[in-house]
Amino acid sequence: MQVTFYGVRGSIPTPGEDFVRYGGNTACTYIKLDDGTHIVLDSGTGIRLLGKRLLSDASPIHILLSHNHWDHIQGFPFFAPIYQKDRPIYVTPGETDELRPEAFLEQMSGSFFPVPREAIQAKLSLHQPSQNSWSISTAKITRLKMNHPGGGSCYCIEDSGVKIAYVTDNELYPPYAKNTDFLDFVTFVKHADLLIHDAQYVIEDMPAKSGWGHSVAEEAIKLALAANVKTLALYSHDPERNDAMVDELVEHANEIIAIGGGTTSCVGARESQTFTF
Ligand SMILES: [Zn+2]
Repeated sequence: MQVTFYGVRGSIPTPGEDFVRYGGNTACTYIKLDDGTHIVLDSGTGIRLLGKRLLSDASPIHILLSHNHWDHIQGFPFFAPIYQKDRPIYVTPGETDELRPEAFLEQMSGSFFPVPREAIQAKLSLHQPSQNSWSISTAKITRLKMNHPGGGSCYCIEDSGVKIAYVTDNELYPPYAKNTDFLDFVTFVKHADLLIHDAQYVIEDMPAKSGWGHSVAEEAIKLALAANVKTLALYSHDPERNDAMVDELVEHANEIIAIGGGTTSCVGARESQTFTF
């Protein structure tokens, strides 16, 4: 299995010289299973480049959306495979509070985007599972509701003994009524080989940004340690957090882990970074 980041930024794209190493595209993570199956997590602006790379074959693409906030769907109209004739594309919307499974298509309405949804040539199917567990090819997919204004889903993908957890945008300790308790997240991501978790904020951002739907990096570290995950990728970098600040955050995270003798390693999610399992 291979996991590659195409977009790691929260809220809004951040071009500019201070953001080139980690990248400025919004959420998109790509998983290629050993049998070649394509799984795409979120369709932020990072999905544009991924789409160009997926044009070379005609095999099915499975897109799992966390929720419908712009930074998670904005790239969809630029995803080239949707204009490939009869390309099978399955989209699983997040479990948002307001059920609006076609939100990613509603933006292709002429007013927001010049190309209408009718221009899509692919065989596009909405996948709305009635259970929280299903299969994509040889992989087992499970989902859990996240804590975020408007709600949504996080996902685990397990295949050939490898477990990837994708948990963004998620506020582990929100001031509002939560969908999921911290200990349930621990169970959900337990023993993951790679936990991709929201770490948009740092302690100094609080309490001003409490309730905005994102976690403080230290909370993501706590989850990774409690669940004994192998690698934690801090994800959904704040638009204000430049490369040097992400470096500092990662260093701080690894210091915390080392003091307790933990074996988890922490990285800052970075565009083009690939993990091979
Ligand atoms: Zn969001």
